[in-house]
Amino acid sequence: MLTDAYGRVATDLRVSLTDRCNLRCAYCMPPEGLDWLPAPEVLTGDEIVRLITIGVETLGIREVRFTGGEPLLRRDLADIIAATAALDPRPDISLTTNGIGLDRRAAGLKAAGLDRINVSLDTLRPEVFRKLTRRDRLDDVLAGMAAAAAAGLTPVKVNAVLMRDLNDDEAPDLLAYCLERGYELRFIEQMPLDAQHGWKRTEMVTSGEVFASLSAAFQLSDDTERSRGAAPAETFLVNGGPARVGVIASVTRPFCGACDRVRLTADGQIRNCLFARSESDLRSALRSGATDAEIAGRWRAAVSSKLPGHGINDPAFLQPDRPMSAIGG
Ligand code: SAM
Repeated sequence: MLTDAYGRVATDLRVSLTDRCNLRCAYCMPPEGLDWLPAPEVLTGDEIVRLITIGVETLGIREVRFTGGEPLLRRDLADIIAATAALDPRPDISLTTNGIGLDRRAAGLKAAGLDRINVSLDTLRPEVFRKLTRRDRLDDVLAGMAAAAAAGLTPVKVNAVLMRDLNDDEAPDLLAYCLERGYELRFIEQMPLDAQHGWKRTEMVTSGEVFASLSAAFQLSDDTERSRGAAPAETFLVNGGPARVGVIASVTRPFCGACDRVRLTADGQIRNCLFARSESDLRSALRSGATDAEIAGRWRAAVSSKLPGHGINDPAFLQPDRPMSAIGG
């Protein structure tokens, strides 16, 4: 098992398949993009599947979430999902995506073994979408979400980040849109993970503000039926339920004590926290002929040194060197 010194057990593996992305979201990347990882540094499909296999068969991983960068940019995504679905015990398999191109791929990914999907959507206004993502692809994202629902990748979860003076008034509209279509919306507090280091604690839209804004239009009540467990989202029933909305208050109400996640970057580094300042190199081990047992040992050591919390609210907090797109959100 992947345990740490604070009694937490990592069972949820976030696998970044690429650091590349076809959007340039303001809270993540500068408009010109970033220097992508050189291709030889990125794990091959076989390398990724070998690590996932060790994670599932030896280290107690029960959930695998593919992310990035934009995971749909990986042509071998369906093959990686199929190989993951063939493992015993079969892990729960999900994908976080910006939805571009999903309209053509949703059915194939479902057939390969994908169980669930999260699509990121911050605005319903085309001009705000262009400003926030620096691309004109809102219709593609909406079509992707609809295709995911039609393919049975349900419930489609939608992730939204609100930015001050950009889309901070859109919470009720986003919720109405999602309720109408049966999508489950979750608002994520903006975290200091942008490549430009532009995040300011005083400017971020807090989950408290989101709650207040939603409460003006909907009746929100405690979700007593669903236990939160290690889930990052705190959920509320909307208008008495069964529809729900979630808030992920990573900054204002951190949930590190219940964290069960561990991350594998596209270049084969294990990160025991989004905000970790060090990584453990599994790619070198893989490529220098290490056995599965040796790799598992390195992986266990990486998780065992996980800190008790992310430290964002600590005056001495230092943002990690890698931005969100290169870690895997
Ligand atoms: N490209 C995929 C997508 O758009 O969902 C997967 C990767 S993206 C980094 C994963 C999630 O991280 C998205 O929902 C995105 O909104 C969120 N994200 C990126 N930067 C963030 C930040 N600074 N604070 C909070 N969430 C962020």
